[in-house]
Amino acid sequence: MGVSRKSAIIARWGDNAARNGTKECRICHHRKSVEDFSKDPSNKTDGHRATCKACNLKRMYLTRKAWIERNREKANTYSREWQRRNFADRRELMRERSAQNYKKNPHSYIEANAKKRVVCRKATPKWSIRFFVNEAYALAKLRTRLTGIEWQVDHIVPLLSKKVCGLHSHTNIAVIPKADNYAKGNRSWPDMPC
Ligand SMILES: [Zn+2]
Repeated sequence: MGVSRKSAIIARWGDNAARNGTKECRICHHRKSVEDFSKDPSNKTDGHRATCKACNLKRMYLTRKAWIERNREKANTYSREWQRRNFADRRELMRERSAQNYKKNPHSYIEANAKKRVVCRKATPKWSIRFFVNEAYALAKLRTRLTGIEWQVDHIVPLLSKKVCGLHSHTNIAVIPKADNYAKGNRSWPDMPC
């Protein structure tokens, strides 16, 4: 029975059993090392699957993508729930950690804030219009209240980074969501040299 089933498979798909530590994938038809095939004890010939890991991953990805396209509503709900769960946890954790650090070493926090203020003062040119700068901070507050997400005043060219020193002036600020500001950090700005 086993032999006839095996020969039927070989007749249909061809023999792709491993030879000299290599094996031909039944999907992409590349000959790869046996290591590139997941183990499969039910395959009595060489103990590995007939399709390579890369093709399996691709197939899984496509299956998942097709499912998401068919069940868009459900997928959106799952994704939103996952994000809310994980981000809420992480936010709580970060808050706790920062509170602990503050207790351990309040001076470093006070110093960091003082430094930030000095940097802002030094980076403010005489021609900067304070009214516009203040308006930006007020806008950030207003947007935070209206949209329910936190907005911040971002320095387009960062005040402090290894390569540049931006200005604290109305020409170098933008009101953007906090998440975007944190993602950007002080690592990127327009016309950034490589
Ligand atoms: Zn393959």
